Amino acid sequence: MKHIAIIGGGASGLMAALFAARSGANVTIYEHNNAVGKKILASGNGRCNIINTTATHEDYAGNDPHFVTYALKQLNFHYFEKFCHSIGLLLDIKEDGRCYPLSNEAKSVLISLKSAVSEAGVKIITESKVTAITKNDSHFSVQTDQGKQRYNNVLIATGSEAAPQLGATADGYTFARSFGHEIIPTYPSLVQLHLNSKNHPKMAGVKTTAEVTLIIDNKRCMNVTGDILFAAYGISGLAILDVSQRASHALLHKQRVSISLNLLPRYDREELVNIIERLFASVPKHDVHTALCGLLPAKIITYLLEDAAIALSTTVSSLTPKDVKKLAHLIGEWKFEVVDTHGFKHAEVSGGGVSTAQVNNKTMESKLVEGLYFAGEVLDIVGKRGGYNFNFAWASGMIAGKEMAKK
Ligand SMILES: Cc1cc2nc3c(=O)[nH]c(=O)nc-3n(C[C@H](O)[C@H](O)[C@H](O)COP(=O)(O)OP(=O)(O)OC[C@H]3O[C@@H](n4cnc5c(N)ncnc54)[C@H](O)[C@@H]3O)c2cc1C
Repeated sequence: MKHIAIIGGGASGLMAALFAARSGANVTIYEHNNAVGKKILASGNGRCNIINTTATHEDYAGNDPHFVTYALKQLNFHYFEKFCHSIGLLLDIKEDGRCYPLSNEAKSVLISLKSAVSEAGVKIITESKVTAITKNDSHFSVQTDQGKQRYNNVLIATGSEAAPQLGATADGYTFARSFGHEIIPTYPSLVQLHLNSKNHPKMAGVKTTAEVTLIIDNKRCMNVTGDILFAAYGISGLAILDVSQRASHALLHKQRVSISLNLLPRYDREELVNIIERLFASVPKHDVHTALCGLLPAKIITYLLEDAAIALSTTVSSLTPKDVKKLAHLIGEWKFEVVDTHGFKHAEVSGGGVSTAQVNNKTMESKLVEGLYFAGEVLDIVGKRGGYNFNFAWASGMIAGKEMAKK
């Protein structure tokens, strides 16, 4: 019988443990938290966006996003749905491909998974931090505060540094490095952004819908329409999280990053000029701030007018066509320099990690060390928002579990 150690009781570790134990292996999970699956519980605002029905390599970033293709094929949505049914978990499938547990509670994902893992006979040791992994001859030694144990195969499923308050560590990278693996520099992703502007703190709390265009080294790279929320440190909201992976990666590589906000994306520039002109014509005696209040949140108007160098008290009738054009331009393209992210503490995931060039994508085994495996976020793979990160964690965990038991 194979003796397998799984380092990390998160999404990928639990999945690997289940498949390895079901294939006849003797499996031990080491988890340094007092319980497994803390990120599963915290995910999707407590609802757990568990998978996406449409995932392909295009939903992932990393040096080689194609690395995910084989795993996503093995654990395609229909397979996963059947698997969920087999452990007593029903899914709520949304039109855009996101899936949640039908209970709408992340807790049910963890409860179902934990019972399946325990029925399969997996041993879970919590409050047990792995401090080193070594290999002598054909055996691995896993070192914890409680001592050393020997195993045939080891899976590093320690996740990333994102959300350390939930137990995240960079330990997986240290273990991988000790076996000669290359680590692609890591960076926070699905994270809020810090802006260089004196006015964003004064707009803290203002939420609106905008089209966000990400500009890297003066090149427009992507745009996303969705919620934005100004904050004391900068800006958040779903549209910001969606551009954050590329923004954070660019910041890591010292590129110049900015965002341009289109605050009324439903209108093109000409329509916007017409709308503002009509608005001003109907209230010619209003001051410009009051007049624009029907169009945009009041706090935003204050600082938009400041950037347009138009005094708030200016009477609408005294504005020139050039002023109107300037306002329409700013509403459509309000630019902010991005200087940082809000950091790993606030990030949902991390980009970078163990280089996939040194890992076999069909087995998740190290190409450098026989019997050493990797799964989940510790690898240089990061997904978009929408269930893609769990998707890869389940898929890579399942493959690693099956393969470790076979080997
Ligand atoms: C707030 C939040 C919300 C999220 N929501 C979603 C969502 O809705 N959908 C989605 O797809 N993704 C979501 N994610 C991302 C998702 O949680 C991760 O991508 C996924 O959990 C990665 O799985 P993993 O097994 O690789 O790592 P993890 O789930 O992080 O598991 C790693 C485990 O290893 C343990 N560990 C680390 N070091 C050691 C050590 N030295 N010894 C022992 N144990 C160790 C950790 O405590 C942890 O339990 C969210 C993340 C966060 C933080």
